[in-house]
Amino acid sequence: MSAPLLSADRGRCIGAGMCAMTAPEVFDQDPDDGLVLLLAPEPTGADRAAARMAAGLCPSGAITLHEPEPGLS
Ligand code: SF4
Repeated sequence: MSAPLLSADRGRCIGAGMCAMTAPEVFDQDPDDGLVLLLAPEPTGADRAAARMAAGLCPSGAITLHEPEPGLS
């Protein structure tokens, strides 16, 4: 088994909510503490693109997208 495509580090998350706004099918915010909840660790298609954008937008760098490098697999 390989590592999940996507990970969200709740220890780094500051609850800015950019991810849940950018990729609502992939991320949500915990109603209790406002921190990120990962809904879909293996997003595909448009959801993967949105997750990639959310990773770039996250102000705390809490989101990691583990994508295989094209040509390296
Ligand atoms: S964008 Fe980053 S800091 Fe904001 S809720 Fe999502 S994971 Fe947390």
